[in-house]
Amino acid sequence: MGMKYNRVLVWFRNDLRVRDNEVLVKATLSAKEVIPVYCFDPRTFESTNLGFPKTGSFRAKFLLESVADLRKSLRKLGAYLIILQGKPEEEVLSLAVKHQAQAIFYSEEVTSEERNVDKSLEKSAWAQGIATETYWQSTLYHVDDLPFPVTQTPEVFTQYRKEVEKMSSIRSSFPIPFKLNFPGKDEITSVGELPDLSIYGLEEPKPDRRRLMEFIGGESSGLGRIQSYFWEKDLLKTYKETRNGLIGADYSSKFSPSLSLGCISPRMIFEEVKRYEKERKKNESTYWLIFELIWRDYFRIICKKHGDKIFQIGGIKNQEDSWSRDKSQFEAWVAGMTGVPFVDANMRELNATGFMSNRGRQIVASFLVNDLGIDWTWGASYFESQLIDYDVCSNWGNWMYVGGVGNDPRENRYFNILRQAKNYDRNGEYIRIWIPELHAIKGFDIHQPWELSTANMRSLKIQLGHTYPQPLRKIPTLEKSY
Ligand SMILES: Cc1cc2nc3c(=O)[nH]c(=O)nc-3n(C[C@H](O)[C@H](O)[C@H](O)COP(=O)(O)OP(=O)(O)OC[C@H]3O[C@@H](n4cnc5c(N)ncnc54)[C@H](O)[C@@H]3O)c2cc1C
Repeated sequence: MGMKYNRVLVWFRNDLRVRDNEVLVKATLSAKEVIPVYCFDPRTFESTNLGFPKTGSFRAKFLLESVADLRKSLRKLGAYLIILQGKPEEEVLSLAVKHQAQAIFYSEEVTSEERNVDKSLEKSAWAQGIATETYWQSTLYHVDDLPFPVTQTPEVFTQYRKEVEKMSSIRSSFPIPFKLNFPGKDEITSVGELPDLSIYGLEEPKPDRRRLMEFIGGESSGLGRIQSYFWEKDLLKTYKETRNGLIGADYSSKFSPSLSLGCISPRMIFEEVKRYEKERKKNESTYWLIFELIWRDYFRIICKKHGDKIFQIGGIKNQEDSWSRDKSQFEAWVAGMTGVPFVDANMRELNATGFMSNRGRQIVASFLVNDLGIDWTWGASYFESQLIDYDVCSNWGNWMYVGGVGNDPRENRYFNILRQAKNYDRNGEYIRIWIPELHAIKGFDIHQPWELSTANMRSLKIQLGHTYPQPLRKIPTLEKSY
């Protein structure tokens, strides 16, 4: 069979895997030789206007591990992963020119910084007579299989989900290519080394003994988590009941860091859910994991539909800017020093581990935007820096909805923090893990230290404003209906 190309570069981005990777499969089918490449882009490690790094050390470490793992898997298939540093639109292109590749294959992204890189790469490749081919990856439902054009995507999640579930189907995953034909050793003399975190001014994050689990980047570890969550620990059948938890490794899947960099694909998860339903059990919980993956899809499609609006203060609604930009309150929120224990515990977990539960994310985000009235994009930027599972669409999409600038009216919700505490941390165990200075307060009282009598506090050696902050804002009581 004649091949379309003699040689193709496969540029890896947020698809750091060999299973279910259409780009890799299509490259092996259309070229005699394939050169896989990853490029570390220094722009993604720069400082933001607010002064923290765009990519913090938890995520940077996870990324390095993921690339290292990919390199190993590709080695087994007969290829080397070439590592570059610099702007991909320049470095990947010069590599293609140097090795006379006729085309560059890569995954399509939807948000502006990524798209600008693509556009610029495509343009300069074209000028050199090099073709580019892009493939849609990352979602459960392929964008071409949606029952509406992206521009007509329903704004309300439920409507989106119902239409998709009724009218679309999920494609099967791609197998691992049998073998990659890599050019001869004499031709490719240098494959490049993984950078050190320190070149981006980052330090190796210190493991915190309170962390719920160790996240290790890479396809092997992502697959390992599927294996243990579904099969060894048999937790999928109770996912719906446990998913709002706060403590430990197993209340939810913890697939998000691997999904974000594409170490595993949602389709692989979907196929495992189907197998689990056949071999073990099928119930509301097994469906609910798919339901959550549809949320993830939804944010990606909404981002594709609305372009840059998702990063703008007015969001999709073009809402007027009436936000506060109080730096010292924002910094108290960042540091987990707002004086509201449920908020502070979650922020401290994020700072110490790079992870926070979904419940926690909603609570701290609601407190920042609704109680403090602070610019929601500040919160989103901090999460971008700190989250090990940062995903541009899921993060900015979720923040936009909490900030009330998305289009779904039901998502504009105020969280009564004490009610949340009553429902999800009734005895204050979660607070006791992350706020040792309040440890001595028994039961639910730890959520509202300001309600304790001075005598009581004195006997516990706690002094608000000294050993722990006074609350930045008075929050609604338990009985308040909002
Ligand atoms: C303010 C805010 C910011 C967020 N930022 C991110 C982010 O940067 N990256 C990220 O992956 N998730 C983000 N989420 C969504 C959600 O909190 C995490 O996906 C989830 O907590 C990850 O843990 P898990 O894998 O154990 O989730 P599980 O409960 O096991 O869910 C399985 C998968 O479904 C997807 N998912 C679940 N909930 C959501 C959701 N609300 N939106 C989109 N996808 C979802 C994720 O891919 C997740 O891995 C954010 C949520 C909020 C409220």
